[in-house]
Amino acid sequence: MAPVVLMLTPMLPTVVEACEERFDLVKLWEADDPAVLLRERGGEVLAVATNGQRPVDDALLDQLPKLQIVAHFGVGYDSVDTDATRARGVVVTNTPEVLDAEVADTAMGLLLMTVRELGAAERYLRAGRWEHEGPYRLTPHTLAGRTLGILGLGRIGLEIAKRAEPFGLRIAYHNRNRRTDVDYPYYPSARELAAAVDTLMVVVPGGRATRHLVDADVLAALGPNGIVINIGRGSVVDTQALITALREGTIGGAGLDVYEDEPHVPQELIDMETVVLLPHVGSASLATRRAMGQLVVDNLISWFERGTALTPVP
Ligand code: NDP
Repeated sequence: MAPVVLMLTPMLPTVVEACEERFDLVKLWEADDPAVLLRERGGEVLAVATNGQRPVDDALLDQLPKLQIVAHFGVGYDSVDTDATRARGVVVTNTPEVLDAEVADTAMGLLLMTVRELGAAERYLRAGRWEHEGPYRLTPHTLAGRTLGILGLGRIGLEIAKRAEPFGLRIAYHNRNRRTDVDYPYYPSARELAAAVDTLMVVVPGGRATRHLVDADVLAALGPNGIVINIGRGSVVDTQALITALREGTIGGAGLDVYEDEPHVPQELIDMETVVLLPHVGSASLATRRAMGQLVVDNLISWFERGTALTPVP
């Protein structure tokens, strides 16, 4: 009998099709009453496939007594309560590495857009203002001479560093642990890193440990020429402190791909013409999303055929 896999919300068609071929796929979102479906079939479910749009928490896990594995689409898995899965001996997998290059490319694009106001400049042209009012304003900021402080020099952070070096940027970083495989200057706290650089690239994971790691203090340390890019998780940056810092000129600008309450973006940020706001598209190309989807499926196949997951989270 094919293992029963519960999919919580619609995933990429390639993932749905591959799961339908291999497994007995239960689609929670198609149920008229998900609670009834869980009561009827929860006891058979061996695996959950999720893209993080619905939490995997005690309430769900209590209904899946035979669950062995949660295969998460995406590298950041903060929608999964890992204390709860650990307590039940449930393995969690994510989709690292296949998206590193894409996210790092997006991060560099976001940095350039932010420093040189490229989004606002494009809107200026499209509104016909170049023709009628003359050239777009000279930007107060430039990329040249900047020092990029990477908050979270992990897999994606390293790819960003690799791309930033040929742009002439100096690199520094903060992790909880100093890396032994790079020579970039290390700072033991986010605040010290911010004080040493003028550009902060946030690429740490979300969750309790990093909540509001970038707060009013860190922003003040970055200074008025400072640019904040957040490609990690919205929860890492204190949004209200960021809005205040931008409004008061405590920092010089910000480019965001992630938000505290997605997909809601505070109107104050939308009203700031030169702040660059992307709708969480870091990894969002067809090719990369397909590779991530394949890794979700491969993790499930590996688990049920060989008893090991390919990319379990620590
Ligand atoms: P890694 O685990 O490889 O890197 C994370 C880095 O953050 C590590 O160097 C880690 O070092 C550091 N870190 C973790 N916790 C803390 C902390 N509390 N304080 C300081 N540093 C910390 O992850 P990836 O590079 O693969 O991904 C990073 C994050 O990027 C994901 O978790 C996800 O949230 C986000 N992401 C966003 C995407 C988007 O579309 N915008 C797409 C993909 C990922 P150490 O353990 O030594 O502290």
